[in-house]
Amino acid sequence: MVKAKGFVRKTKQRGAILRVLRNTDTHPTADWVYQEVRKEMPHVSLGTIYRNLKTLVEMGEVQELCYGSSYTRFDGNPHRHYHFVCNECGKIEDLELDCIDELNKVVAREVSGRVYDHRLEFYGTCAECMAEESVSSQDA
Ligand code: ZN
Ligand code: MN
Repeated sequence: MVKAKGFVRKTKQRGAILRVLRNTDTHPTADWVYQEVRKEMPHVSLGTIYRNLKTLVEMGEVQELCYGSSYTRFDGNPHRHYHFVCNECGKIEDLELDCIDELNKVVAREVSGRVYDHRLEFYGTCAECMAEESVSSQDA
């Protein structure tokens, strides 16, 4: 009985985390997810959030995005898609670009092996940061 209760709680926590991630396209950090889930479940711990995020990634429900030294970000969209990352503000945008499956074949030839998948990230300056830049250059 105790075990069953624990299981229900765990499932509820995981469901809440997944809901938070599915309802945003901002690619948040674990800490942001924690703050959101806490609004619904005030007693949840950051450790629980981390553990469940790891499980959700393993289940293929959530994608983990690592960008060098900055915090790991999480993506509630499990389907393959490309990202644009702003170097100025760190924002991550989903691209409506079709994935280029041809690239897998090109790389497979290159390595004389088999390619199952690829990830592609574009880096630059987003529209908002561009607008800010032009405003501050007018001031100068
Ligand atoms: Zn930006
Ligand atoms: Mn995404």
